[in-house]
Amino acid sequence: QVVTRFAPSPTGFLHIGGARTALFNWLYARGRGGKFLLRIEDTDRDRSTPEATQAILDGMAWLGLDHDGDVVSQAARSERHAEVARQLLAEGKAYKCFSTQDEIQAFRDTARAEGRSTLFQSPWRDVDPASHPDAPYVVRIKAPRDGQTVIGDKVQGDVTIGNDQLDDMVLLRSDGSPVYMLAVVVDDHDMGVTHVIRGDDHLNNAARQMLIYEAMGWDVPIWAHIPLIHGPDGKKLSKRHGALGVDEYQKMGYPAAGMRNYLARLGWSHGDDEFFTDAQAREWFDLDGIGKSPARFDFKKLENLSGQHIAAAQDAALLQELQDYLVATGRPALPEAKAALVESAMYCLKERAKTFPELIEKAEFALAERPIVPDEKAAKALDDVSRGILGELTPHLQSASWTRNALETVATEFSETRGMKFGKLAGPLRAALAGRAATPSVFDMMLVLGRDETVARITDAAS
Ligand code: GLU
Repeated sequence: QVVTRFAPSPTGFLHIGGARTALFNWLYARGRGGKFLLRIEDTDRDRSTPEATQAILDGMAWLGLDHDGDVVSQAARSERHAEVARQLLAEGKAYKCFSTQDEIQAFRDTARAEGRSTLFQSPWRDVDPASHPDAPYVVRIKAPRDGQTVIGDKVQGDVTIGNDQLDDMVLLRSDGSPVYMLAVVVDDHDMGVTHVIRGDDHLNNAARQMLIYEAMGWDVPIWAHIPLIHGPDGKKLSKRHGALGVDEYQKMGYPAAGMRNYLARLGWSHGDDEFFTDAQAREWFDLDGIGKSPARFDFKKLENLSGQHIAAAQDAALLQELQDYLVATGRPALPEAKAALVESAMYCLKERAKTFPELIEKAEFALAERPIVPDEKAAKALDDVSRGILGELTPHLQSASWTRNALETVATEFSETRGMKFGKLAGPLRAALAGRAATPSVFDMMLVLGRDETVARITDAAS
C-alpha cells in the first residue's frame, strides 16, 4: 500500500510551495487507494507555536487535502529518535565522538592548508569504548569512506554522491537531543512511508538519510524531489512576486478546486490538459509527469482555471464556498433568503466570474434591497425620457407570463412599437433592477427577482 506524507515545518502560514508538495502527495496516495499522512516538523521550539500548526491545518482544510490518522508531532517523538541512535551505537554503526569544537576547527584548518577535504574525520571512530574519557560527546554515524551513494530519484534520475563527500554526521548532540536528519528518517520509517515527494532543496539530505536507512537495515522509500516554484521572472518565488501564503489566495477569492487544479499543473503535466476535475487529477497524477525544471507561477493561468472551475461547479456547492469565502474574509454569511436567491441566480452569475469577488459583484442585484440607489454610471441611464419609457413598460410586464421567452417577446414588441432598439431599454433596466451598469442579462435578473420585485424596482425607478 502506498503511504505518502506531508512534513511541513511550521512557519506561521502554509506556503504555496508547501501546498503544492502536500497536493502531490495527496493526489498520489488518493489515486492509489493509499494513505496520506501529516507530520509537523516542530523541533524548532521557537517557531513551532500552536498557531503556526493551525495555519497549516487551515490551509490544508481549505484546499480539501484531508490526511489519514492523527497529526504526528516530530518533537513529541524525540525519545524514539534518540533510541535509534543508541541502537546504532550498540551495534557499532555509530560511535561516541569526544572531539571539541576547537579540535574540529583545527582539523579543518590543517586540511585546508594541506589541500585535503575539510570534512571532519573523527579520531574517535574506531577507538575502543573502554578507553573513552568521561566527557561530553556527540554520537556520529559511521559513514562509509569509499564507494558511492546512489539516490534513485523518480524526478531527478540517479543522483550519485561519492561517499567521500559525506562525513560522519552527528545523530545525537552533546545534550542528547537528536538531529533533524535522524528524526525525518525514523519518522518516515515508523509511519510506514513508501514514497517521499518533497522539494528538491532536500535532495542533498536524501544521501545522508540513506546512510541511516542502510545502517538500520530499513527499506529506503521511493524518492521524488520536485523542483521548486519560481516567479514569472524565473527567479525563486519570493514575496516580491506576490502572495506566498495559501490563505492569501483564499482571501483573494479563488475557489479551492481552481487552486488545486492550478497547483497540480505547476510542475506536473498530463499531455495538454490544463483544466481537469479532482477525479481526473487523482486518476492521472503520477511521478513521471513531474518536470525537471522549476515551474513558473502564472497568475493569468490561475485566474483562467479558477473561472473554469466556478463555471463548472454545482450551484449549491458554489454557494457554500461563497459563504465560506465571506466568513474567511471577515464578513457575515448571507442570510437564508438572500442565499436562496443567490443560489437560484448562480446559473447566470458563474458564467464569467473568475473569483468570488467577481461573483459577488454580479450578484449585487440579488443582494440589494429596495429602494435601489443607482451608482453614478447607472444614474446616467435614468434620464426623464427613459424613466417615462420604463413607466410604460410596467403594465406589459405585469401581464406577461414569467418565462424567458415571454419576457423577451414583451421587450422586443415593446421596443418595436416605439421604434427603438431593445439595447436602448437595457441600460435603464439595469439601472432600475441593479443600480449598476455591469450586471447579468436583464432577463436573467427578472427571472431571478420574480415579477413582484421586478415591477416594484422598475416602478421605483420610473417615478
Ligand atoms: N520539514 C521540511 C520542510 O518543511 C520537509 C522535510 C521532508 O519533507 O522530508 O521543508
